[in-house]
Amino acid sequence: MTDTAPVIEIANLHKAYGALEVIKGVDITARRGDVVSLIGSSGSGKSTILRCANLLEDSQQGDILFKGEPVTWRGKGLHRHPSDPKQVLRIRTNLSMVFQQFNLWAHLTILQNVMEAPVTVLRRPRAEVEEAARGYLDKVGIADKADAYPAQLSGGQQQRAAIARALAMEPEALLFDEPTSALDPELEQEVVRVIRDLANEGRTMMIVTHDMKMAADVSDHVVFLHQGLIEEEGAPERLFGAPESERLRGFLSSTR
Ligand code: ADP
Ligand code: MG
Repeated sequence: MTDTAPVIEIANLHKAYGALEVIKGVDITARRGDVVSLIGSSGSGKSTILRCANLLEDSQQGDILFKGEPVTWRGKGLHRHPSDPKQVLRIRTNLSMVFQQFNLWAHLTILQNVMEAPVTVLRRPRAEVEEAARGYLDKVGIADKADAYPAQLSGGQQQRAAIARALAMEPEALLFDEPTSALDPELEQEVVRVIRDLANEGRTMMIVTHDMKMAADVSDHVVFLHQGLIEEEGAPERLFGAPESERLRGFLSSTR
């Protein structure tokens, strides 16, 4: 871990869906340049933590800080927005999320997908956004697909387009929720390569993944969740090389 200022600080986070408590007091810090991976069985709460950080979900207790500023949402109903829409926009811009299912706009070209939010949400000049967007497409290796539609791309290419779209917001940090799990193994590697490049660039990232090889390869810190609590965490070499908890050992042997 680096010793620069925290970009994302999650402290004693509690989250329930109705009566079902799914996050039971979790602390995670990502400092500038850190890559933090969240691993654990399905249902352990990994996606929920990212969704809370991105203000897609409210929470009942604890704090989430973005560069020291509290962004915790204590909503009452599913559709109630946090009180300050400008703050929500700023957080979502700064913590840009990449989802498992890419979520590209089917009726827009790849270039238009990447340009959409910077132009319409951030109101940046179109020409400037286009130039940057082409740069991001080049960075993820699909510059030649700028004018294609999502359906004309492989899953790996679509996910790389989704990463270019997240980068186009020029976020402070990237949040990935199982970015490779919808992909065939050979396409998975294209996406892992892009994530590794971003890690090497020193980007701040939180990555939920089932891919232990990627987690070991790109992370500064790995958090193993079990039923809404951190069961064990540490540097990847230690966590994967000498897991202490029985549950983590069981989990790791089940993923091999
Ligand atoms: P993971 O990403 O580790 O698989 P999730 O964060 O998606 O786990 O889910 C954690 C728990 O919360 C699970 O028990 C899941 O069923 C429950 N859950 C997730 N989303 C909702 C929701 N919208 N409503 C009710 N329960 C949910
Ligand atoms: Mg999940």
